[in-house]
Amino acid sequence: DVRVRFCPSPTGTPHVGLIRTALFNWAYARHNGGKLIFRIEDTDAARDSEESYEQLVDALTWLRIDWDEGVNVGGPHGPYRQSERMPIYLDLIEKLKASGHLYESYSTPEEVDARNEANGRAKQLGYDNFDRDLTDDDRKRFREEGRLPALRLRVPDTDLSFDDLVRGEITFPAGSFVDFVVVRPNGAPLYTFVNPVDDALMGITHVLRGEDLLSSTPRQIALYDALVDIGVTTFIPRFGHLPYVMGDGNKKLSKRDPQANLFLHREHGFIPEGLVNYLALLGWSLTHDRDVFSIEEMIAAFDVVNVNPNPARFDEKKAESINGDHIRLLEVSDFAARTVPYLAAANLVTEPLTDAQQSLLAASAPLVQERVALLGEVPALLGPLFAATDAFEYAPDALATLTGSTGEILAAAVTALELIELSEFTHDRIKDDLATALIEGLALKPRNAYGPLRVALSGRKISPPLFESMEILGKAETLARLDRLAV
Ligand code: GLU
Repeated sequence: DVRVRFCPSPTGTPHVGLIRTALFNWAYARHNGGKLIFRIEDTDAARDSEESYEQLVDALTWLRIDWDEGVNVGGPHGPYRQSERMPIYLDLIEKLKASGHLYESYSTPEEVDARNEANGRAKQLGYDNFDRDLTDDDRKRFREEGRLPALRLRVPDTDLSFDDLVRGEITFPAGSFVDFVVVRPNGAPLYTFVNPVDDALMGITHVLRGEDLLSSTPRQIALYDALVDIGVTTFIPRFGHLPYVMGDGNKKLSKRDPQANLFLHREHGFIPEGLVNYLALLGWSLTHDRDVFSIEEMIAAFDVVNVNPNPARFDEKKAESINGDHIRLLEVSDFAARTVPYLAAANLVTEPLTDAQQSLLAASAPLVQERVALLGEVPALLGPLFAATDAFEYAPDALATLTGSTGEILAAAVTALELIELSEFTHDRIKDDLATALIEGLALKPRNAYGPLRVALSGRKISPPLFESMEILGKAETLARLDRLAV
């Protein structure tokens, strides 16, 4: 059975590349009827934070990525926070030491450099496996000097190959990875130790993770071999390294890039359906000609072997356009409900909505659902509809479109609208009567006739559809707004 994991270190705010990794693991588990394990790698007390952990949970929950075992839900292989697993690590460290897989290493970086220099060995090769052959006497002498040993894993002196699910066969030649530190002199086990140990103990079958971790894979496989040797597990998982996510200028999207911040996209008004769809496209595609799909379609089709190893580019414009497509797929009442936090943040409504706000929103939501790519665009479009007559300002670029004939146009519009019975104040009727008064009566082009009315109604050059807006505002409010600009 497929068992995959998402095992972030809780530092900083969730990065789109990291959440893409969670999504691919989740889709792989769901496609195969397997399990997703959510583990927290919080072994770096100086950098880890509870806030970051909560943000990770928030991000996954918002995107509807659920997990079967792990933090918050528990499971048979807990605890799922590495900071709570220290006794497990200490026990395995002892066993790996006793079986000769780990050895004490006393070399300082200066000593390694000096030996490499003396032996004509390239400096960048780093540690030279020197302490493998220390005698008991050597160790005793070092301890008497007051040195504390790190523990290193004895790695094979042969090439190491594995078949990457995304990249195919990868070989690390013998000598390109050396005996590495798994436990610091102060006793703290390192990422290179606890990560594969937990994968082994949690029965992980597929390690799907970012390309940045590819260089640690040969060492982790070497550790896995040792774990198999002492009977901790019986198998080595398959590895698949997901492509980098690039930002503007084809540079790796860094943590500091605002684009990298998942929550910034939520603030701007991505909906989970849209963002998940876009994250899926960072290295994968459903078909070559269809960018918009549902999460169910992704699950049905997802296989990690179809992930493209080439770097994926985070294209904000494309992400927004896909989000807009998902916005249009929502039921209008659902769309309206999702705009409320954005309207409230812009002080256009109170939460919960009053009855008047509720009906204004229900009437106006369809006018904007077709036009926005982000929920964050809704307040600007609907703002004037929700504002009191005298509480919105005219945008300078809108005022700049007005001409000497604006007064005449507004007056003719007022006259025409005043004649419409209250019960017949519908957008069709408004449209007909304004056309008669302005297009025919004043011989104006539609753009010249309706531009000033749009400015009067909304203060903007671009607004929700004009006649519908008038119907929604009602006769009295529409006339008041026309009057306000006329004076
Ligand atoms: N905690 C590691 C990280 O966030 C996990 C790496 C992995 O998936 O193996 O980089």
